[in-house]
Amino acid sequence: MVDIHCHILPEVDDGARSWEMASEMCRLAVADGVDHIVATPHANHEYDYNREDLEQRLERLRNIAGGKPLLTLGCDFHFSYENIQDALQQPGRYTIGATRYLLVDLGIEAARGLVAQAIFYGGAVLVTLVTIYVLLTSAPLNFGF
Ligand SMILES: [Zn+2]
Repeated sequence: MVDIHCHILPEVDDGARSWEMASEMCRLAVADGVDHIVATPHANHEYDYNREDLEQRLERLRNIAGGKPLLTLGCDFHFSYENIQDALQQPGRYTIGATRYLLVDLGIEAARGLVAQAIFYGGAVLVTLVTIYVLLTSAPLNFGF
């Protein structure tokens, strides 16, 4: 099982508050059958999203967790004008690993509208609370993990 939305990196947003907590989150995830987690720190106006620093933190957590679960970096992308402009310039800064997939948080009002439209038109969306997963490609969903 792959968890594609997890605030597991410590001390970067409102997720894990320590390395010990992040390590315990890894242990519990594996115990629950999760073999791969995409770390998705917030990329919004509230938190600094520094991909290089986050990659280093991810590598440290990989070492602490001993390779289980597998860990990949992504982000919880806030759908703002500034973020969209930056993502268009450097998409690899925000995507899930080296894929073309992006986890987008549209906010609750937009999410309500999209879900209502999807239901009305008989479409399907993947929804986790207020987060909508938007695909940047029309290719079938395949993270390549
Ligand atoms: Zn999130």
